[in-house]
Amino acid sequence: MSELIASSEPVERVNLLGMSRTQLEDFFLEMGEKRFRAQQLMKWMHHHGECDFSAMSNLGKSLRERLSVIAEVRPPEVESQHDSSDGTRKWLVHVDGGGLVETVLIPDGNRATLCVSSQVGCSLDCSFCSTGKQGFQRDLSAAEIIGQVWLAIKSYDAFQSGNGRVVTNVVMMGMGEPLLNFDNVVTAMNLMMDDLGYGISKRRVTLSTSGVVPALDKLAEVSEASLAVSLHAPNDELRNQLVPVNKRYPIAQLLDSAKRYIDAQKDKKRVVTIEYTLMAGINDQQDQARELAVLLADFPCKINLIPFNPFPNSGYERPSGNAVSRFWQVLVDAGFVVTVRTTRGDDIDAACGQLVGEVVDRTRRSARHRQNAEAALESGA
Ligand code: SAH
Ligand code: SF4
Repeated sequence: MSELIASSEPVERVNLLGMSRTQLEDFFLEMGEKRFRAQQLMKWMHHHGECDFSAMSNLGKSLRERLSVIAEVRPPEVESQHDSSDGTRKWLVHVDGGGLVETVLIPDGNRATLCVSSQVGCSLDCSFCSTGKQGFQRDLSAAEIIGQVWLAIKSYDAFQSGNGRVVTNVVMMGMGEPLLNFDNVVTAMNLMMDDLGYGISKRRVTLSTSGVVPALDKLAEVSEASLAVSLHAPNDELRNQLVPVNKRYPIAQLLDSAKRYIDAQKDKKRVVTIEYTLMAGINDQQDQARELAVLLADFPCKINLIPFNPFPNSGYERPSGNAVSRFWQVLVDAGFVVTVRTTRGDDIDAACGQLVGEVVDRTRRSARHRQNAEAALESGA
């Protein structure tokens, strides 16, 4: 470290915003500082929203100066902000290298759920997903993921006001497949739940996956977050068409892995949220609801029905309110807890992936990334 400081070469500064508590402690120990500096710095960054070392009064002048040479606290930049008439707020977030991702805050009574992105684009190419159509560009860093929580709170000027939480819940349901950016997502989710981070209860931080089974199998070792599984179909034949990753990890394997995840948690009352996007004439028929009820009969879950959010050239349509009700009724009669996601922020295209707009074909890059990510997981990297 001291060599770095003495050097006249320009140094790329390390962004401390996305570091876990342990990483930050190691960082300070390496600087020859005490471990507790990590706690002080975390409070400045995540409780006070402070990015300027010179304002961090309890760090001591010389430490602040050393930090400003080698490190930075840098959240991603907001490209634009969009407010819906129903209170939903969406940010288009500019990340390094020119990419754009979306973050959406959906207030609902005394809750406010932040929908956070994990990748620029997505390689899994689900047939009904606007993010999937954009192909994959890159993984977000942990700083860019936790930075979305930071900027939501900042945008309401709520770091200073203290009480009254702007973000009560987080769902990793923005752009990207969180389990294909495993380490950064886990680090960021752990910061969301850490008291020195954002102190959100583990029941209120949810990872949503379309089913990358080897990664899900590893998640319980490092995370206590809640789990949502994007199922969308009651059988493999249909799911293969809608969610191509199903061809590698079919439904039975996915549900087994999800069950192992919640069984491994200390909190025994937990269930998996099954997400089911309803598309007219595709997966919204009553016999499909009955098939789903049989499939999930012994599975500890609640079901969240999501009426399809249309986007240009998607090829799919949102079912009528009646069709949604009929589907819902079959599941309720079978004894399930079923919620229907109300459509929010329609006037600002709040469904994630839809504002980024530009549809680019990056299929080859997507395939390459997917192979690399899976190879890394299978080799235990
Ligand atoms: N990649 C993860 C998380 C991001 S997608 C996953 O697939 O779970 C978050 C949720 O939005 C998923 O359940 C996804 O299937 C759903 N979704 C994607 N596009 C949609 C659309 N156009 N309308 C409704 N839901 C959609
Ligand atoms: Fe990726 Fe999820 Fe969209 Fe599928 S639904 S393409 S996994 S973001």
